[in-house]
Amino acid sequence: MFQLPDLETLRLCSTVATMSFAIVFAVLWFARRSETPLLYWSASMGLYGLVLIAFGYVPHGSWIAVSTLMVVLAFTNILVLAGIRRFEGLPPFHPWMLLPILLPASGHALAELLPTPADPIAAMVLDGAEGLALLLSITMIASATLLGFPARPSRGRTIAAVALFGYVPAYVAAAVLSQGAASPDIVAIIPLLADQVFLGVLSLALLSMAGERALAQLRQVALRDPLTGAWNRAGLAAAQARLLVEGAVVVAVDIDHFKAINDRHGHDAGDQVLITLSHHACTLADQLGGSFARVGGDEFVAILPPGSDAHRFADRLSALGRRHPVHQGTWTISIGLAHVQAGDTNFHDARRRADGRLYAAKAAGRDQVAA
Ligand code: GH3
Ligand code: MG
Repeated sequence: MFQLPDLETLRLCSTVATMSFAIVFAVLWFARRSETPLLYWSASMGLYGLVLIAFGYVPHGSWIAVSTLMVVLAFTNILVLAGIRRFEGLPPFHPWMLLPILLPASGHALAELLPTPADPIAAMVLDGAEGLALLLSITMIASATLLGFPARPSRGRTIAAVALFGYVPAYVAAAVLSQGAASPDIVAIIPLLADQVFLGVLSLALLSMAGERALAQLRQVALRDPLTGAWNRAGLAAAQARLLVEGAVVVAVDIDHFKAINDRHGHDAGDQVLITLSHHACTLADQLGGSFARVGGDEFVAILPPGSDAHRFADRLSALGRRHPVHQGTWTISIGLAHVQAGDTNFHDARRRADGRLYAAKAAGRDQVAA
């Protein structure tokens, strides 16, 4: 089968890979300067490449040089997290991050500087301090990547965290092997082998985070009405699949004499009425687990799940025009309510019934709810 490559070949592979990713992130950042996370990730990958090169030149006996490199190595992991924090709108650095930066170097310095204890178990623990510190450092950073944010992790962030956690078994294996008779080269090879998998996975995951967010934003733009923020017809159609069940309520809403509001107070005042109505109605519909959409100029439709108090919803919308007058002028709306029935094959059946009642409300003098 495969032959295990030697340490220098693996170091070269890791260096080439990490430098390539550093260049990709840098080029992308150059094209989109506002996306500073790309700069953090480029710096992380580039710095890691430099650390790998430097490890080849540092004499193993020099604990100061090795500890310094270990600080920089841990900092490269922190830069990954700092970029993600920036991406999620948080300040990139936080004081707790000093701990995972300094832990591995402290472990190394301890193991090098303290005299070997006579007790064999104490000696083993001291010998393993460096591996344990490395393990703790990467675990802290990976855990923070996965869980250290208010928002649920996106797919990209989850994969990035998994890639960071991927180094944990590598460090465990290295720590265990370093206790036995394995040569130092074999011990050093294991994290570099992990690089061959996880450097690529990590970089692709970080790149996908931006793509995932852009897609979500595009979807929002495509499904929302730009003036009011309510769902548009496409957004409503997307919600139908979930909400179109027997007993759901379709609420047809239309502003009364809206043309006259525009004519009397100006188009901006008319816009403000549309925005006010949408803002409150979206909040109320969301609270009920439903959807509120703008389907025409001053026409709106809400779908509320079965069991919702649709009359209370309608009454609260009806009160908006008195609570939020435009230029001291109150405004009113007419509302038609209809339930989705067992025989309904599509949304139009219930919508037609709700519209019929809306027109009845208009004909009966407006400013009322017809059910
Ligand atoms: P009714 O009580 O019968 O519903 O009368 P209405 O005046 O509300 O209805 P009509 O359909 O005659 O007028 C709707 C008006 O809505 C006409 C149009 O200029 C206005 N409109 C449509 N879209 C917008 C918009 O985005 N902003 C503003 N300010 N007005 C809009
Ligand atoms: Mg109207």
